[in-house]
Order: sequence, then structure tokens, then C-alpha cells
Amino acid sequence: MKIVAVALKVPLHKTFDYLLPDPLPFSVKLGMRVEVNFARQKKVGIIVEIKNDSDFDIKKLKKIDNILDLNPILQPDLLVLLKFAAKYYCYPLGETLQIALPKLLRQGKSPDKTSISYLELTEQGLTSKSLKGKKQQALLEQLKGSGKTPVTELKALGFASQTLKSLIKNNLIREFIEFDEQWQSRELTVNNRLKLNDEQAIACAAINQNDGYKTFLLEGITGSGKTEVYLQALENTLKHGQQALVLVPEIGLTPQTVNRFRRRFPDTPIMLWHSALTDNERLQTWRFCEKGSCAIVIGTRSAIFIPFAKLGMIIVDEEHDASFKQQDTLRYHARDLASFRANQLQIPLILGSATPALETLHKALINKYQLLTLSKRAQTTTDNQYFLIDMKGQEEHAGIAEASIGAINQHLKKQKQVMVFLNRRGFSPTLICHECGWLSHCGRCSTNATYHKSMQSLICHHCGEQKPPPHQCPDCGSTQIVPAGKGTEQIEEFLHEQFPDIPINRIDRETTRKKGSLEQALSEINTPGPRILVGTQMLAKGHHFPDVTLVIILDVDSGLYSCDFRATEHLAQLITQVSGRAGRSGEAGQILLQTHFPEHPLLQDLINNGYQDFARYALSEREITDFPPYSSMALFRAEAHSMQLVTSFLNLLIPEQPLHGIQLLGPIPAPLEKIAGKYRYQIHIQSNNRATLHQYISQLVDYLSTSKLATKVKWSLDIDPIDM
Ligand code: ADP
Ligand code: ZN
Ligand code: ZN
Repeated sequence: MKIVAVALKVPLHKTFDYLLPDPLPFSVKLGMRVEVNFARQKKVGIIVEIKNDSDFDIKKLKKIDNILDLNPILQPDLLVLLKFAAKYYCYPLGETLQIALPKLLRQGKSPDKTSISYLELTEQGLTSKSLKGKKQQALLEQLKGSGKTPVTELKALGFASQTLKSLIKNNLIREFIEFDEQWQSRELTVNNRLKLNDEQAIACAAINQNDGYKTFLLEGITGSGKTEVYLQALENTLKHGQQALVLVPEIGLTPQTVNRFRRRFPDTPIMLWHSALTDNERLQTWRFCEKGSCAIVIGTRSAIFIPFAKLGMIIVDEEHDASFKQQDTLRYHARDLASFRANQLQIPLILGSATPALETLHKALINKYQLLTLSKRAQTTTDNQYFLIDMKGQEEHAGIAEASIGAINQHLKKQKQVMVFLNRRGFSPTLICHECGWLSHCGRCSTNATYHKSMQSLICHHCGEQKPPPHQCPDCGSTQIVPAGKGTEQIEEFLHEQFPDIPINRIDRETTRKKGSLEQALSEINTPGPRILVGTQMLAKGHHFPDVTLVIILDVDSGLYSCDFRATEHLAQLITQVSGRAGRSGEAGQILLQTHFPEHPLLQDLINNGYQDFARYALSEREITDFPPYSSMALFRAEAHSMQLVTSFLNLLIPEQPLHGIQLLGPIPAPLEKIAGKYRYQIHIQSNNRATLHQYISQLVDYLSTSKLATKVKWSLDIDPIDM
């Protein structure tokens, strides 16, 4: 009698044994889906072990109801990766597997998705000049840039079916369906390959000469041509008939980026992976990759779980970006799983960034990774100039110093673009009563409710609660309620008044909520002429804005004095990334940093010596203070409606005697003590030895699975947390 261990989507750290039907209709393999009866419910699970015996009484084991697959739905190497992830991040295996699977497969649906519809320009479309319809013209432009493109992707960019249909009717574009493509057997077409400079050539040669697993850190300042290195390294992979996975930050997945890949390899099937895909598209991409019909996937973090027939390279662009870390359920870091996967498949991994995470840089400096450096901008010889604007005693308007306004004026007069950066959306972070000092708080969280003027609304950015702003102070009845502090909406309003003839694009989560609106703004920004861009960190990432020559960072100070040991690293990355948007073609860019602490050593180091220098110094500080990467950390957090319940639960976990090799700090309130009515407290777990840390944590999880109190709170573990 054969027994299988099945991983089910239940919040328990174990798998469940079932009997296989006798006789078996076909051979059963790991990674197949089965339907079973669990707690009187039908559930879809995955076979993770086949064995002859069970720890349970075999007579009491239930039979599997159904085997859903003829072939494993999870390839063996993917199953190994997911088992590793579940163990490493202390998350139940069943739930981990379910997170990796596309929804339709989770539901037990058939995996077959074998065709995909594309659109491409006809000869008539290729030569057509301008069309009357704005949207129609935009679609033609898009296809000129991207070549043949899946219909679903164009819809994701905001093009309506109507627009597609009318162009098809006028014979400007055509739709066609492709089945399992045999791109490997065709000769690889490569367009517009650039001649590499010396540093790029050395980097490419190192990657191409590599055989087997190796991680490369491509540390290159913004505009130094990292993408060109990726493209030429990919060329080698594709020539060998191998596939590639390119991971990008959430916001980095723009048509600009994707078009560059499509233009370079026009005959090569390239697919995207991101949260806006429909369930069908997700399954389709998954299957195309698994069968080898797709050559390159460009995707956000969860693309690390896609199966490939023959993966030959993984690239993580902007590897320092926080969006690679999942912040709930399975709290994985896609970059770190990419390293496991590359090692598992014995293929190269390229981590690229202008501002590498200190963890990554550390591994490069101790030669675990190979460091490849691009120190010069590829297209220009000019470096950006930094200026610190001392805000002490300065006159300011909507948070913008007089000196900054003067600079904006100058650059606009020269027909250039100006970028104003502030990492806070809304009109103002709070409303204040001028008479008594009342502040607009969220009723459910320990934080302010942000005033959004255009919506006439107070919105909590943590729980999403919205309410109209009061006409009178709830405390003293005064009608003098005024905005306090600045957000991007206010900056935009002020700049409109100041520069009424200049187009302004505000880019933050509020203005880009609508499908296609970010793409629309990005294409407006690419039209020539003076313009102001206002935005949050959505502006910082990866975009190529050739006409920006002035960048103003309004609020540098909030990152200078924070209790999070990573705050300075994040500030330095942000300043460098935002600054990197300036001076990308020809003229040197100017960067103005508004601060009350111009003499602060971090700012001085950063503007005089650059991120590379700052990062190496910051690493030496981490070593002295024993923070990661010189130690390992985990964060244990619990939340409940009762504060007393949470703290007494956490206090139970703190032993009276100190533990050998483990430091525990807490319980302390989370950075936001209360969200949506729930109190949140945490314990920091730290050790100089990763194995010791993991051993302790697995004991902790074992203990919790038997603890009564643990069922009354919601607890979570975050291994290698990036926000504490
Ligand atoms: P990064 O990814 O490092 O920010 P990019 O790859 O976007 O840099 O390159 C910046 C600009 O320089 C792009 O416009 C790119 O086309 C150009 N570029 C890159 N490499 C070269 C090269 N070897 N010769 C000429 N131009 C280059
Ligand atoms: Zn009041
Ligand atoms: Zn709230």
C-alpha cells in the first residue's frame, strides 16, 4: 500500500498522509495535484512525498479522492525551491506551494493554455503618418516601439478593445495567434546592438565566460549602461537556446523597459509577469515558460516561482529595491531566492544596481559574489553637481526654498525639465486646529489621516479609512482648521500658481491608480519642452527622462535621524536614485538637497564621494555595531485587539535566562503601534550565527503550534526583515 504526504493550504506547519488508490491507474510523482477530503471539505493539495509508511495508524488514513494531473504541475526543481523557501521563511509548506501556483491551478483547473494572440503593424501601419484619433495614434506608436505584442499587454496599457478593432478594420494592424513557438530553432535576430565601452566589455566577458553557478554584482552608477550589459549577456543565453528570467521592481515594469528588450530581440518571445495579469494570462505565461515556448520573462518578485524548461540566466535589476521583499504571508526576498535557484540550476545570476544593498555589497567584498563595476556614464562625460540648500532661516513656499524656486525658473527658461521629489503623497500629512492643536488622526491606527484636497477627504494611508474633513474642530469647535506639513498634491498646486504656463505631471500612487495613466504621463514627459515633474519614489526608479536637468529633493531630513538602522542606507539609495534621473543626455544635471543639517556626515560623504564610498563606510559601521550583514535577524510580531493580550503573549516567549548565542529585544511596539484597531508588538531576534538563529526559530514555531495563547493573537515571523 502506497502512502503520499500531501501539502494543503492550511495554516499548519505540517503535511498530511493519504492512501493512494489501489491499483493505481498510472505512476504517481511528486508535484502532482490531488483532490482530498480534509475536515469534511474537498481541497486541492500537492504530493510532496511518496512513502511506504506513516506515523499515523494506516487503517485510519483516508484515500485520495482524485489525482488531477498526468504529469507533475510543480517541476522537481521548483518543488525543491519551494520547500527551501517554506523552511527558510518558516511558513507552512502547503500555503507556500499555493502562493507559488497560479490561481486556476490552485483551484484544480486544467493547465492547458497553448495559444496566445498578438498584434503587429501591417505594411500600411508601418508607413502610416499621423492618425486623427489620439488613442489610435498612441497604439500605432506603441507597436512601432515594441513590435509584435500580446493583445492582453496592450489592454493592460489602457488601450480599449474598440481602438484595437478600428485599427484592425483599417488594415493598419493585424491580429494573429501563435502556438508553442519554436524560437530555439530559429536564428537569433539582434537589432541595434551598441558597441560596449571597456568596463561594459569586461563585465560582459566575465559573465559570458562563466560556466555554472556564479553571482555577479554589477555595480554601475545610473546611466552607466547596465541594461546594455544585461542585453548582451542575454544574447549569449538565447543563442544557446536557453531561457532567461529578468526580475524588476514593481514600478520598474514600464513599456520603456520592455520595449528595449523587444526591440533588441524582435523575433524572440518575451512575456511579462506582474500583479495586474488576469488569472488566464498568468496561467498562460506559466505554461509557456514551462514548455520553453517563451524565451524571456520580465517580471516582478513572484516571477521567481515560474517554472522554466531550460533556464539559463537570472537577472535582478535594481536589486536593492524593497519591492523584491514580500511583506506579508510568505515573507520571501526574491533576490535571495534567485540566488538559491541559480545555484540549484548551476546558472549565472546578475544583480544590478547603482546603489547595491549593503548585504549584497558585503558578499561582493568578501568575494562570494564577483564584483563588476561601471563607473562612468555611457552617453555623457558630465557628472551631476550636488548643492546642499541650508533650510535654517530660509524663506520657503509650500516647502520649496526661494533658492530652489530660482533654480527651477532658470532651467525652465532653458526649455529643460525639472523634477521635484517628496516622498509623501496627498495635500498635507495632517490637519491641525489653529486654536487648540487638535490633529487629524485615523480613528483606527496610531497615525495621522492625510488630507487629500482634490478629493476633500481625510485618508489613512495604512488602513485606507476615508472621511470628510471636519468643518469645526471636534475638540474646541473652532473653524480654523488648516493643513500642516506638505504632500505632493500641495507642491503641485503651488507650482501651478507659480508657473501657470508650464505643464506639470504629478506621479504618485494617487495619480497613477487608473490603468494606463502612468504610461500616459511617461509618454507626455517624453515630449520636448519645459515641464515640471512632481512625485514620490515612483519617480525614483529606473525611468529614463532625457530632458531633466534639475532635481530638487525637498525633505532630506526625515531619513537622517531615524531609529531604524537601515534608514541611512535607504536615504542614500533614494537620493542617489532620484539624482540619477538628471543629466542623462549631455548636459550635467544639478541636484538640490534641502536640509537643515548641511554639515551632516552622511550628506557630506554622499555628495562628495558618492554612494559607493558611503556604502563601504556604512558597512564598517554595521560591523562595529554587529548589525546585518554581520549578524542575522528575524522579527517576531504579534497583533490583537487587546494590547494586554499581545504583550503578555510576547512576554511569555522571553526566557528568564539569556539564551546562548541569541539576543532577544522586546516586546516593543511596532513602528506603527496600532493599525485598523489592532495593537502590534514585536520581538527582535538576532544572532551572529545563522544556523543558531534558525534552530531557535524552529523550536519557537514548534512551541507555538501547541500553545493555546498563540491561537488568540495573530503572529508572524519575518526572516531577514528589511523594515523593523
Ligand atoms: P543603466 O541601466 O545603467 O541606468 P542604461 O543601460 O539605461 O544605463 O544606459 C544609459 C544610456 O546610455 C542609454 O540611453 C543607453 O542606450 C546608452 N548606452 C549604454 N551603453 C552604451 C554604449 N556602450 N554606447 C553608447 N551608448 C550606450
Ligand atoms: Zn480645536
Ligand atoms: Zn487607519
